[in-house]
Amino acid sequence: MRQYREELWFHTKTRRAYINITDKVQAAIDKSGIKEGLCLVNAMHISASVYINDDESGLLQDYDDWLEKLAPHEPISQYRHNRTGEDNADAHLKRQIMGREVTVAITKGKLDFGPWEQIFYGEFDGRRDKRVLIKIIGE
Ligand code: ZN
Repeated sequence: MRQYREELWFHTKTRRAYINITDKVQAAIDKSGIKEGLCLVNAMHISASVYINDDESGLLQDYDDWLEKLAPHEPISQYRHNRTGEDNADAHLKRQIMGREVTVAITKGKLDFGPWEQIFYGEFDGRRDKRVLIKIIGE
């Protein structure tokens, strides 16, 4: 069995962002040389997500609006977590809803997606350096 590991780095200008990372994940698979296997992609921070869905601008805004309704950033005083001096309690909650990681099958060297599936990095407390881990195993 072969294995490959890579980290992607992000530093978003905004607090929240939704970034299509499908091409970067496929590039990692290409580098790995693995043709049949599994690809794990996970956010390495507890205020960011990796998830799979459609790359459609209306939907991305819908996610942001929906997450802000579920866990509004402000007022920051509404969250016990922020009593620690942090202001990112909402980001922890948004991460929980959108998930930590995805695992995708690799077939003939390509991400084996269903229709319209794309891999996204969801940032909920950006404006600093953060990482995503890609781990690929197979033959
Ligand atoms: Zn926190």
